[in-house]
Amino acid sequence: MQPTSPERQRTMPPPVHLSQPKPAQKPPAECDVCRSLVHERQLAEARGDWFKVADLNTELSNHPHAKRSTR
Ligand SMILES: [Zn+2]
Repeated sequence: MQPTSPERQRTMPPPVHLSQPKPAQKPPAECDVCRSLVHERQLAEARGDWFKVADLNTELSNHPHAKRSTR
């Protein structure tokens, strides 16, 4: 055993399993449609249906809102 391996290799991020979508933005609380979509997304996440999650994320990001606050 050689003590030449860098110790910082141990602090690696956890492996990504699939093309798992990153957690999407929070929905506006005043939009029932988005809240419903987020609820569906949570259910899809619970059963590991990442295709459905990605689809719902797309719907969420595409849902039009009159007022859109830019951060
Ligand atoms: Zn909406």
